[in-house]
Amino acid sequence: MDYQNILESIYKQILPFAKEGKPADYIPALAAVNPDRFGMCINTIDGGEFAIEQSDVRFSIQSISKVFALAMALSLKGEEVWKRVGREPSGTAFNSLVQLEIEHGLPRNPFINAGAMVILDMLLTSLDNPEEEFLNFVRKLSASDTISYNTVVSRSERETGYLNAAIANMLKYHKNLDCEVERVLQFYFMICSIEMSCKELARAFLAFANHKNHFEYAGVSLTSSQVKRMNAVMQTCGFYDEAGEFSYLVGLPGKSGVGGGIAAIYPSRYSVAVWSPRLNSKGNSVMGIKALELLTTETEESIF
Ligand code: GLN
Repeated sequence: MDYQNILESIYKQILPFAKEGKPADYIPALAAVNPDRFGMCINTIDGGEFAIEQSDVRFSIQSISKVFALAMALSLKGEEVWKRVGREPSGTAFNSLVQLEIEHGLPRNPFINAGAMVILDMLLTSLDNPEEEFLNFVRKLSASDTISYNTVVSRSERETGYLNAAIANMLKYHKNLDCEVERVLQFYFMICSIEMSCKELARAFLAFANHKNHFEYAGVSLTSSQVKRMNAVMQTCGFYDEAGEFSYLVGLPGKSGVGGGIAAIYPSRYSVAVWSPRLNSKGNSVMGIKALELLTTETEESIF
């Protein structure tokens, strides 16, 4: 498969959508990012790397970090994780409070904000240096030692994070957080502020595409069955209330973030990362979804 040619052809086809959507502006530090950036990178499990445009430029990975958090929690706690968070699509926005109240503080899945906070609470009570260990895991996974948090972004999110603070308080009220609300929020905003390039993200997600190989990075160890199941959760819950649409259009497990990034995998074949900051009304990258839709259409490869 000539992935390089396919990527270049995709880029030409999505250019008409370049001005559609708008970057996340509810996080002031993210509103400052140049909205016209674009990058895309594919890593194949036989060692190929194919990239176009600004695939080396780092951006805020935001909710994509929730995949790394779940991997760490599953490695530490195994099936215990599912006692405090579900694995059903929410059908609501990533920061919805309504469902969490109706369902008594049990988040639908680990990829909405509430679910990620519960997962991070588990990490906080199990790890000595959670922030450091989290970063170390992400660095090992993507073979890049310089990946880091952007504290300007995390501070900006905390200062305006009224809804996320409400979610954390609701969880605490329902006794689904052991740590203090402020500590969980601090960790949550830190992991959202991690910056990675498309190349680094594609490399990190290759481990999920390669589920038949043992997953072992910086002490985070998952069986192939656990990785397969994580991929299942990405398929059903990776795009909030647009998970069905993404499945329909693209047909790959993946995860998006409001920084405009999307990482997806084709099990046993490749991982792909795409970045374009303009988002649709569901908080997913307009050009990113379009590019991935074209990728699975042109290659005639999807999990279905
Ligand atoms: N940090 C963002 C928030 O909590 C993450 C949301 C996202 O990427 N969907 O609102």
